[in-house]
Amino acid sequence: MICPNCEHGVTIEDYEDTKPFQCTQCEEWLVLDVDEGTYFGATHTTLRIFDIDCD
Ligand SMILES: [Zn+2]
Repeated sequence: MICPNCEHGVTIEDYEDTKPFQCTQCEEWLVLDVDEGTYFGATHTTLRIFDIDCD
C-alpha cells in the first residue's frame, strides 16, 4: 500500500483491521477502506486519509 499523502510505502499486516493508524513517514492518519461486494466475493481495499476531525 502507498500512503495517499506522501506516497511512502506502508506495510499492512492485517487487511481486515480498519482502525486508523499513522503513516511513519508523514504522520498523517490513514485508514483502510474496505469495499466488499463489488464483484462476486471480491474485496477492494484502498488506503485513504482519515479525517480525524470528524470523530
Ligand atoms: Zn505518509
